[in-house]
Amino acid sequence: MKRATEHMNATIFIDGKFVPEDEAKVSVFDHGLLYGDGVFEGIRLYDGRIFRLKEHLDRLFASARAIMLDIPMTRAQLTDACRQACAKNNLRDGYIRLVVTRGIGNLGLNPFKCKNPTVIIIASTIELYPEEVYRTGIKLVTASTVRTNASAVSPSIKSLNYLNNILARIEAVNAGTVEALMLNSQGYVAECTGDNIFIVRAGHLQTPPVSAGALIGITRAVVMDLAAKTGLAVSEPDLTRYDIMTADECFLTGTAAEIVPVTELDGRPIGAGKPGPVTLQLTSEFRKLTRAEGTPI
Ligand code: PMP
Repeated sequence: MKRATEHMNATIFIDGKFVPEDEAKVSVFDHGLLYGDGVFEGIRLYDGRIFRLKEHLDRLFASARAIMLDIPMTRAQLTDACRQACAKNNLRDGYIRLVVTRGIGNLGLNPFKCKNPTVIIIASTIELYPEEVYRTGIKLVTASTVRTNASAVSPSIKSLNYLNNILARIEAVNAGTVEALMLNSQGYVAECTGDNIFIVRAGHLQTPPVSAGALIGITRAVVMDLAAKTGLAVSEPDLTRYDIMTADECFLTGTAAEIVPVTELDGRPIGAGKPGPVTLQLTSEFRKLTRAEGTPI
């Protein structure tokens, strides 16, 4: 069987134990598979330390609470399992995917018939954007797929239901690029399909508020902290496509992407049409920080 991870013969945590990748299987009756009923986190490991693990676990537990899913492990147990998953796979740098599904039930929707949520931890290497992207930036298109309304499913819940984002990502790929801008149902900027968005305008940083449909991104919070520390004002106003098009700089933030410069929206160059000085400065500080702190494995 072809292995799913680049890491040869990965060791996966599932149902309370570590097993070889080929044995790490979920039931066809797991509601994570049948209905996308579950929550997850994507976490980075840098130089033998897990970055912002506590914040990721806080968000995981908040997502689980919002969907009435009882995670059958404590934070301490999850922390330990994440560390072991990295150590058992001999990783120093990589990506941890922590998934909690509703577990096995019948074919009906009722989540309360699923008695045992499934906890899965995959520690693997990560496919990064090519380094060139950080020097040249990416182009965005605005997706016609609107970000899910918070009164339907809150975009703050990091759930296994990613079809909304996937539909928008299809639009990006069809347009020949890698990310799409998603607006909310009022027409304000929410975020991108797998990243938060920031702009720089007259030396100020701006990012859409969580109420506009932005995930409470861990990298978003780190960047806001870094900005505050360097005396850069940050605000969270409602933003429109016009605000992005007329910004001095634009960049995306995400655990996998880190900080990615955006140089174009819908064919309009942003600012000078190349990664701007504030973006590059924040990127260099972010990279220093990721190597300077974290939970040792
Ligand atoms: N928005 C969405 C929809 C995402 O999936 C992600 C990635 N998890 C982000 C934003 C960025 O969040 P974070 O910095 O916590 O990875």
